Amino acid sequence: MTNDIPAPHRRTASRRPQSLAAFARAKALIPGGVNSPARAFGGVGGEPIFFASAQGQHLTDIDGTTYLDYIGSWGPMILGHRHPRVVAAIERALATGTTYGAPTEAESRLAELIVAAVPSIEKVRMVSSGTEAAMSAVRLARGFTGRDLIVKFAGNYHGHADSLLVAAGSAAATLGVPNSPGVTAGTARDTLVLEYNEPQQLEDLFRDRGDSIAAVLMEPVVGNMGLVVPTAGFLAAIRDLTHRHGALFVCDEVMTGFRLALGGAQELLGIEPDLTTLGKIVGGGLPLGAYGGRADVMDHILPAGKVFQAGTLSGNPLAVAAGTATLEELRDRPPYEALERIGGRLEAGFRRAAADAGATVWIARVGSMMTMFFQQGSKPVPVTGWQTASQSDTGRYAAFFWGMIDRGIYMPCSQYEALFFSTCHTEADIDRTIAAAAECLASE
Ligand SMILES: *Cc1c(COP(=O)(O)O)cnc(C)c1O
Repeated sequence: MTNDIPAPHRRTASRRPQSLAAFARAKALIPGGVNSPARAFGGVGGEPIFFASAQGQHLTDIDGTTYLDYIGSWGPMILGHRHPRVVAAIERALATGTTYGAPTEAESRLAELIVAAVPSIEKVRMVSSGTEAAMSAVRLARGFTGRDLIVKFAGNYHGHADSLLVAAGSAAATLGVPNSPGVTAGTARDTLVLEYNEPQQLEDLFRDRGDSIAAVLMEPVVGNMGLVVPTAGFLAAIRDLTHRHGALFVCDEVMTGFRLALGGAQELLGIEPDLTTLGKIVGGGLPLGAYGGRADVMDHILPAGKVFQAGTLSGNPLAVAAGTATLEELRDRPPYEALERIGGRLEAGFRRAAADAGATVWIARVGSMMTMFFQQGSKPVPVTGWQTASQSDTGRYAAFFWGMIDRGIYMPCSQYEALFFSTCHTEADIDRTIAAAAECLASE
């Protein structure tokens, strides 16, 4: 009987012949058909949609269907696609050359904007991706402290540098186990993985090995296992323990920076990291990352200090122009109250829709980031870390995702990714999204 029921992605696949053909072609040329795995729809089944253009809050695929976009390129597009100020800045930069391999004044202007916005950043170095920012911050922390070990939390993503591709998923302090072939056991051994929001684990670990820990890295609001919010006690434990033991507190704000507040999650939550990594919004839709923090730590980077880090395209003029225009727009017209209001409307609507449909969900939201975790039991279980997040009903999420696609709404293609919206999303967009969600939840 169940064989007669098509998988959710099959119901309307015939509406996307161009995307299906494009994917077949791409798969023959590019591993898995994509240049980054999250795009392949592995978390929901079926074939990815190929896009032709974007404008504001909308994406248009190569079959001519337009979707309301709740991914925003996984974070960068807080102003929506092709914001006029950003487009104009890129065009101006294009007219004067795309890369020189030499310093420009524009880099200092962007650095000034970052230093003014992010409370704990006194000096900042620009790179080309969030991965590079996190990798460099780890090297700097090790170089500065002269220690080898780093601590991260299960379900937190810090890009794909070897030492950060480790998530044992174990509740206790464990020796890291690489979660990708190609990451050596030796590298993984220097990364210790703890459960998020468990200050006691951190305390125990620091008691045993505090004098060998270079840094604790964390997402101050997690977006990469679905949205998970830190407790005040957890944040305080990280700050106190790193401080007491001479380790550095590294806040990975690649996703939250300039999104939850102009000064990122650290402004919103009142936390004071030693180093911060940035990406996504800081490049305004072009490849740019950055890491910054205490001047005395940052001055250990070559050529001021001895810790090596370099990049042919670092501080690239086009990316710097897009990032500068984006940060100036966010500074001049802070959208954060409006985003919070829109987010509250979406959250309330999803809660109502889930309750009406009798679906068990845990909804977490901060500003313009949100996740609805589908759960199996009859009562929602708070999602506080990977142990609870990983219990989600991913099958129900997949059905929901494809139902939303059928209704022209492009949500994250995995239960374990947060949705994002932009300053372009209107109340009417939100209400349409809620109505679609109510239909999807009721029809399951
Ligand atoms: C996206 C992300 C990264 C990696 O950034 P890339 O630009 O994809 O390399 C690192 N940390 C966090 C928190 C992220 O969300």
